[in-house]
Amino acid sequence: MPDYSNYNSRTYGDYAKVWQSTGKCVFCDLKDKYIIMEKDGVVLTVNIFPYINGHLLIIPRRHFEDFDEATQKEWSAVKKLSEIGKYLLQNSLKVQSVWFLHRMGKGFKAQKTVAHAHAHLIPFDEKLFKWEFQEITTAPIDLASKLREGLDKK
Ligand SMILES: [Zn+2]
Repeated sequence: MPDYSNYNSRTYGDYAKVWQSTGKCVFCDLKDKYIIMEKDGVVLTVNIFPYINGHLLIIPRRHFEDFDEATQKEWSAVKKLSEIGKYLLQNSLKVQSVWFLHRMGKGFKAQKTVAHAHAHLIPFDEKLFKWEFQEITTAPIDLASKLREGLDKK
C-alpha cells in the first residue's frame, strides 16, 4: 500500500479505488497508531482519508451499520468522544467550530462509503461545506403538522 500520510485521496479521486480494494471492513481493522483515545468500545481516531486538516472520526469497535444498533453505553461514548474531539481541535489546532456529521441511513444513498457506523468531526470551513439551498415547496407549519401525524404510526 502506498504511503498516504501526506496525500489527499479525496482530492486526487483515488478514494473509491482504495477502500473498494481492501476486501474487508476497514473500520473493523483500525490501526492503533491513528487512534487518539477509546471509551467503552468506541474510538476517536484521525480520518486517514480526510476532507480537511483535523478531520476526526468516531467509530464503534463492534461492527454494525448504523447507530440505531448502538447500545446506550456506546451512544454515550460517542457523545463524550465528540466533546473531547471538539475540545482537542479547538485547543490544539485552533479550529473555531466543528461540525458533527453522521450520515443516517444505509449505503451510497446516504453517501456513506463504509458500512460500519461512524460519525465525523469536521473543522468547519465554508469552502468545504457549500450549501445548495433548495426551493421550499412545503411550508414549515405544514411540515410540522405532517410529521406529527407520522408520530401516530411509529
Ligand atoms: Zn466493520
